[in-house]
Amino acid sequence: MRKGYIQVYTGNGKGKTTAALGLALRAAGAGHKVFIAQFIKKRRCSEHKALERFSDVITVKQYGKGFILKKKPSAADIGAAQKAVTELKAIVKSGAYHVVILDEANVAVYHKLISIEDLLALIESKHKKTELVITGRYADEKIIEAADLVTEMNPLKHYVYNGIKARVGIEK
Ligand code: ATP
Ligand code: MG
Repeated sequence: MRKGYIQVYTGNGKGKTTAALGLALRAAGAGHKVFIAQFIKKRRCSEHKALERFSDVITVKQYGKGFILKKKPSAADIGAAQKAVTELKAIVKSGAYHVVILDEANVAVYHKLISIEDLLALIESKHKKTELVITGRYADEKIIEAADLVTEMNPLKHYVYNGIKARVGIEK
């Protein structure tokens, strides 16, 4: 196994989570082990149903407790996010996974579910051969600085601004 890098998918455009899922698919195809941690999401989406078929190589764990982005996080939301950080530190450190995805971790920092220090510590504790992928809008400057690859999804157009809600099979 070669050196693993730190990737960040951020910005307001569509494609952050799906890019990470695409990478998970590619890694799984190569027989690599993948761990997907989801910070905000509580609900099961279509991708979870599809990923069940790859359960031998892809593990998905949702740590969200139902935090709504418009509200302040509750003690339960923060507690769940803290638990995620503790668990994930061991996971990224172990080297047991070729790819670890921290989906919406930037959003978790932005809404203070976890601190920026928590996320930086996760990056810091990464096994040298593990590829770490951090998604979510509002990536902190310090995360961008720590990363090797940063892609900003820029919405030249997005139907969400025309009131189109998330659709099953496309966004959820
Ligand atoms: P995808 O999961 O399709 O790759 P993403 O991970 O880039 O998208 P998120 O930022 O995680 O997108 O957004 C989650 C959901 O929030 C989207 O599916 C959409 O319904 C909604 N959304 C997306 N962009 C915006 C926006 N600019 N303003 C408000 N809501 C948005
Ligand atoms: Mg997303």
